Amino acid sequence: MKKLLFASSEIFPYAKSGGLADVSDALPQALKSFIDVSRVMPLYSFINKDSLQHFESFEIILAKINYSVDVWLHVEHGISNYFIQAPFLSDTQNMYSDEKGDYPNNDIRFAIFCRAIVELAQTLHVDILHLNDWHTALAALFVKEQELSLKTVFTIHNLAYQGLFAQDTLSKVGIDERYFTLEGLEFYSKVNFLKAGVLYSDRVTTVSPSYAKEILMPIHGCGLDGFLAHNREKISGILNGINYELFNPKRDKYLTYDFDEKSLTNKAKNKSSFLKEFALQGKKKPLFIMITRLVEQKGVDLLIDSLGSVLNQDINLFIMGDGSGNFVQALEKESQEHKNFVFVNRYDEALAHMAYAAADFLLMPSKFEPCGLNQMIAMHYGTIPIVHSVGGLKDSVKESKKLTCGNGVIFKTFTTKAFVLALKRAMNLYADKTRLKSLIEKNMSCDFSFYESAKRYFALYKSL
Ligand code: ADP
Repeated sequence: MKKLLFASSEIFPYAKSGGLADVSDALPQALKSFIDVSRVMPLYSFINKDSLQHFESFEIILAKINYSVDVWLHVEHGISNYFIQAPFLSDTQNMYSDEKGDYPNNDIRFAIFCRAIVELAQTLHVDILHLNDWHTALAALFVKEQELSLKTVFTIHNLAYQGLFAQDTLSKVGIDERYFTLEGLEFYSKVNFLKAGVLYSDRVTTVSPSYAKEILMPIHGCGLDGFLAHNREKISGILNGINYELFNPKRDKYLTYDFDEKSLTNKAKNKSSFLKEFALQGKKKPLFIMITRLVEQKGVDLLIDSLGSVLNQDINLFIMGDGSGNFVQALEKESQEHKNFVFVNRYDEALAHMAYAAADFLLMPSKFEPCGLNQMIAMHYGTIPIVHSVGGLKDSVKESKKLTCGNGVIFKTFTTKAFVLALKRAMNLYADKTRLKSLIEKNMSCDFSFYESAKRYFALYKSL
């Protein structure tokens, strides 16, 4: 059996800032039945070392400086998880940033991580190294430089994050200046780590087929569209799934009432207790939710601009978003002024599960969306998604008369008008109880697990 090492800067439940951690949790687990898979991630300072075993130590050299690396091991669900403990990488309080912004030594931190990944891959004799996002991208360059025989796959989870640093980063991380060209790592006079992943990996994937096409165009290319189009031969898209162990309304540790498509009365009970908890009135009104990072990508500005029309409808709205700044202020102000709107400004795994279970509709008006997991979680929990038809949302949600998997409400132009119209269609759907029930039941019976994606990744590995 071939051996795969899956490298990511975050893996749930050890560390999570978003969907990358969910995918790094669920995809390797789904791959287990196809290939011998282990994982590697940084040992951040907040990860408890008590249950980890020491695996090995080695030294790596970056720009003539020696760094001692300790590798720790934790086996869970039959997968070996390796944790890289190294100076700088493991010294910060958080993963990438604090209140002052991104850590200024993220270049050195993640270059050390990448060197250590390649070292570990050799110790483990792996055949394939699967790299994820810019934090792991330099590993592809190191593999090529050392002329190792292992194959590399690089997955772009979100092109908006590229790992951009000043030119002197190259000398700090010991990468030759000859790489600083437009065809190489240069990007508008900066060093772009993500470019290394694209250039030096054998295959590049994105997390949905539509996103793989969209990033070749200026509107979603984040300045790299020309470069990516040049490399298009090796780029393809594989839609993510969700972790059915974690997101399963039939046995969800966060829910008071478990349910499936045959026991939707229990979903209604979850709704009642949720409304009560947040002092929202009116069980008969549809409950709309949004669970998100509060960033422009998620269409938060479009939502805020539409809130007047949205909250005038006979609905309840619950938004949970982590973030800070203007979005928070605007949402707090609106929630103080409207009794039918609750805004919670935090990241809360348990509350997210309760909200998915209680809601009738999920709002996901993302400006762009590489894949998006919320819409799939929502459908699995009998909640109808209302989405901007872009990226992975376009690939997973359809609005049609036919009953297919992935039923929802979509809007195609990114305007408040189109969004509010979609909401009105959702209200009409809510009034048509028979149709609503059949859409919910259909979505809940569909397979949004990682199994299909894992099959596709395995086919890709085999093609190498
Ligand atoms: P992204 O990675 O861009 O944030 P995804 O849709 O790929 O978006 O993944 C988001 C994941 O994070 C989902 O599991 C979602 O439920 C979860 N999530 C996002 N915001 C919050 C929040 N404030 N509280 C709890 N879970 C959240």
